[in-house]
Amino acid sequence: MASKIDKKIVQQAIASLNYDWSHYAFDHFVAHIEEIRSRKMLIIPVPGLVIPGICTSTPMADYILYDASDIPMAQHHHKLHEMGHFVLGHVQEVKTTEDAEQWLRDIFSKSQFRGYSHIYEKDLNEEHEAEYFAYLVEDKIAEAHRLAELTGISEPVNWQIPPFSGDFAKEDS
Ligand SMILES: [Zn+2]
Repeated sequence: MASKIDKKIVQQAIASLNYDWSHYAFDHFVAHIEEIRSRKMLIIPVPGLVIPGICTSTPMADYILYDASDIPMAQHHHKLHEMGHFVLGHVQEVKTTEDAEQWLRDIFSKSQFRGYSHIYEKDLNEEHEAEYFAYLVEDKIAEAHRLAELTGISEPVNWQIPPFSGDFAKEDS
């Protein structure tokens, strides 16, 4: 099963976020995505989660659950991967229902949570897209970080033009 992802779709999705990578911090990035999607995104650490990450969506909010026992770098990667599923439109919203059992069924069937032994090709492509999303974001962060190191500027310069104090009119006359 070869993956046939369109890398441009992921690249364009990231460009359309219009995010200033020099300000990157995970929580800041989450807030930015929340604003774009006009939805709350809850990031929930679950120590010992059976898979690295799960994402699901309800009418109230988007949810990312991740294995909080993993090493920090892996946790960060998996949170970005799950976020990729939202940004790339892979996640169907699960309507809440009175029937808790049915709701659980819906959550498990519609969430980005799959047994890799019986994964469908469409799902596999979505996994590759989300993985590429995480990779590109990490690359953007590293690039912004490198640039800051090279230039010695850790905060973006707030360019302000000083108020004009000269008097050109005098020179003209
Ligand atoms: Zn995934």
